[in-house]
Amino acid sequence: MTTYDTTLALIGNTPLVRLTGPSEASGCDIFGKCEFANPGASVKDRAALFIVQDAEERGLLQPGGTIVEGTAGNTGIGLALVANAKGYKTIIVMPETQSREKMDTLRALGAELVTVPAAPYANPGHFVHTSRRIAEETQGAIWANQFDNIANRKAHIVGTAEEIWAQMDGRIDGFTCAAGTGGTIAGVGLGLKAKDEGVTIALSDPHGAALFNYYAHGELKAEGTSVAEGIGQGRITANLEGAPIDTQFRISDAEGMEWVRRLLSEEGLCLGLSSGINVAGAVALGKHLGPGHRIATILCDTGFRYLSTLYNRQWLESKGLTVFPWLAQS
Ligand code: PMP
Repeated sequence: MTTYDTTLALIGNTPLVRLTGPSEASGCDIFGKCEFANPGASVKDRAALFIVQDAEERGLLQPGGTIVEGTAGNTGIGLALVANAKGYKTIIVMPETQSREKMDTLRALGAELVTVPAAPYANPGHFVHTSRRIAEETQGAIWANQFDNIANRKAHIVGTAEEIWAQMDGRIDGFTCAAGTGGTIAGVGLGLKAKDEGVTIALSDPHGAALFNYYAHGELKAEGTSVAEGIGQGRITANLEGAPIDTQFRISDAEGMEWVRRLLSEEGLCLGLSSGINVAGAVALGKHLGPGHRIATILCDTGFRYLSTLYNRQWLESKGLTVFPWLAQS
């Protein structure tokens, strides 16, 4: 057992678990990286820590300063925890469409929360642009800029990818996940390719995102919609530039929710929808590579963050999603 000197050292070094149902469904060994085990319960703690450390090293963030960010929520939660541990303030801008739990969590952690109506990226009111303006107008503030700040993907090159490689004893054939900022897929992809060019890196894109068509046909074009939070990108962010994507799958919310349901009821893992989409993608990658391969994916955050949405009968019905049988009477 290891003892850590600071709470920030608790970020990363997450467990890797073999997932029984997905392995059986694909004939492969599918492993999930338990990012919900980070202190802020998501994969974004890693990016938050690297972004703050990078700003400190560049001399941009002074003691008592403020970190401003636009986020679907998880990056904000990571930033708020890192900021508390280091003596900074946080201002977080979120679209109103994100889960109630994430907003309540941010307020509970002491972040100043600003919510804005959901808007296309081209709209100046979009949460990312709003957060940049707030940073510019706030004395002593930095803009974390997770989408285009490559300190984000560096966290996954030196952290997540190294850990997966070590945990799988260098025996890994494929990796897949969805993209929000793209930091995870690009960083893990670059990190694993540096170890072994032969590892297949696959993007698992939700409906409503433009990256599947970009990597398949060279055209940024979105089709359909998704209720998944934190994923679904419409442009090539700086973090995605040069991402070594070998192949891509388009995964529906229904497919992702089926794995959310099965992983909870059969394996006791309570996850969010981006994790379900990643696992559906890992099964697709297993079928693509053929039986006997070893594949890793990301279990991005905890399902406890979505009790009012993914685990709520009325909400599921309102979105036309299948209600989990055990929620039918609720
Ligand atoms: N899943 C969830 C729940 C997230 O919040 C995020 C972060 N936006 C992702 C997946 C995607 O991670 P990344 O930003 O590294 O692409």
